Amino acid sequence: MDRPEDRAKDQPTDRTAESAADGGDGAGRGDGAAKRSRRRFLRDLSMVGAGGVVGAAAAATVDRTALADDHKFPANGPATHPDRHHPPKHGHVDVHWNVDTEKKLVALTFDDGPMPQWTPMVLDTLEKADVPATFFLVGRRVLDNARILEGRTARHEFGNHTWAHKNLATMGVDAAHDAIARAHDAIEKVTGREPTQMRPPYGHLGGTTLLAAADLGYDVTLWSLQMVESEYVNNPPGLVTYIVDSVLPGTILLAHDTGPQDRLVALKGLPDMISGLRAKGYEFTTVSELVAENRK
Ligand SMILES: [Zn+2]
Repeated sequence: MDRPEDRAKDQPTDRTAESAADGGDGAGRGDGAAKRSRRRFLRDLSMVGAGGVVGAAAAATVDRTALADDHKFPANGPATHPDRHHPPKHGHVDVHWNVDTEKKLVALTFDDGPMPQWTPMVLDTLEKADVPATFFLVGRRVLDNARILEGRTARHEFGNHTWAHKNLATMGVDAAHDAIARAHDAIEKVTGREPTQMRPPYGHLGGTTLLAAADLGYDVTLWSLQMVESEYVNNPPGLVTYIVDSVLPGTILLAHDTGPQDRLVALKGLPDMISGLRAKGYEFTTVSELVAENRK
């Protein structure tokens, strides 16, 4: 679910940030750590000094073994432990940001539809270019706009983006389960296939999200690259170049087929992104096919 090499990569960044916070004096890591611990020691010493003024009574009221009390979420809040769904039907959940592969494979994903304004245009583009994609559908929009997908589902994968696009990270386990399960039923009804990939709205997830996903047999799909439409509203070719240059083997690319007007720059740029990536040797695949690649 998490890759050790990424954690390892993250650590130097943290240290660098910490060194910078120390005043960026250019000291090596070892020196920086020594300075920090010396500083902590001096600070602790000065606190003892300050405490000494009010005496031992004040010191006695500070319970140094106490942990933060921010675990007090609302009742049935987003903790990871099984509650009513206990144990979950499936004992694990895979989370994908991208897929570790050497092959030049990329998965295009489109969130928040289907909606009448742009989804048909995106389907047209993908059909014309013979490119499969994964659409993370909002359950109630699937029922409202079922006709958009009629006869156009064969090449694509349809994932679950919850019933009403609410933040799963704040939900208790029953609400999270319901948000995913209702969308699951709607997507199966309209596309004739059961979704197996779930993307939490905003990429926000809590323990209950994972628990509900496990119970319903889902993988969680996040993304490793996203369209940055707002930066390229006045420079459409710039977005094409940015995406073509940024895709790596196994990239899961986030786009939206509905939403604010600036997102159109990405959708209109799709044909050029597709041909640019093909020129670099990339092939397009659904998320589940990409994930299966890694499980071979
Ligand atoms: Zn969304």
